[in-house]
Amino acid sequence: TTYRVTVRAVTLESGRGVLVCFEDVTPMEQIGQMRRDFVANVSHELRTPLTALIGFIETLKGPARDDPVGQARFLSIMESEAARMNRLIGDLLSLSRVEADERVRPTTRIDPAEIARSTLHGLRPIAEEAGVKLDLSVPATPVTIPGDEDQLRQVLTNLLENAIKYSGRGATVTVALNAVEYEPRVRGRGVRLTVSDTGPGIDQIHLPRLTERFYRVDSHRSREMGGTGLGLAIVKHIVNRHRGRLRVDSELGKGTTFTVILPAT
Ligand code: ADP
Repeated sequence: TTYRVTVRAVTLESGRGVLVCFEDVTPMEQIGQMRRDFVANVSHELRTPLTALIGFIETLKGPARDDPVGQARFLSIMESEAARMNRLIGDLLSLSRVEADERVRPTTRIDPAEIARSTLHGLRPIAEEAGVKLDLSVPATPVTIPGDEDQLRQVLTNLLENAIKYSGRGATVTVALNAVEYEPRVRGRGVRLTVSDTGPGIDQIHLPRLTERFYRVDSHRSREMGGTGLGLAIVKHIVNRHRGRLRVDSELGKGTTFTVILPAT
């Protein structure tokens, strides 16, 4: 715990005295520390591809000047490093936008089944390329919820992209949407959206920290798969904005299920 102590001379009716104030500034200290960590993380994440780019530019100007085969290879690596920076900046912008309007609850009524259908449709090519089967189940009777369509699409996209990229060839990813009658935390009716995969699963010790910015179970693998480490942090903020709830269940060797519950009223 950190205290800020201020001492002030005061004049009272009974004479002069001193006023000593103890103020618990622990939460502010923590916010300050989180901000510093975030800036350090962002700088590191941007500097890594940038250092690679600078290195390859030097190589292209020097040793690889007369080596067309090498040049083509280096250029393609440079392209993917630049794409990584672009993705990171895109995710940072999404995160800051979502954080900015987190207190304003969306009011437009949206149809999560339709959003699930079209998002899945858009991701089919990626799934096919990765050798992953995509399944969808939606309720027979339509349900609508107050929500932000683009943001809900982003939640599904982030969860599905993760499920596809971490599960790998031969896996099945299932998206299921259900109306839930009563959910204590959201007080009333809502929808439950689950994204389940038959991938490698995540060790229990990682689950509580999974939605932290830049937290990765395996940094090397995440980077190799093009991850920014921000996908689940974005998901968490969007779910919060919808006054919903996010949970993760996972078993090593069996797979992972992300559950999002969103209130319908
Ligand atoms: P990233 O860009 O690294 O994928 P995310 O915030 O989306 O960042 O996810 C954080 C970490 O959670 C990932 O690095 C990965 O280790 C783990 N993860 C997320 N989804 C899954 C999944 N479906 N199966 C296994 N691991 C997952």
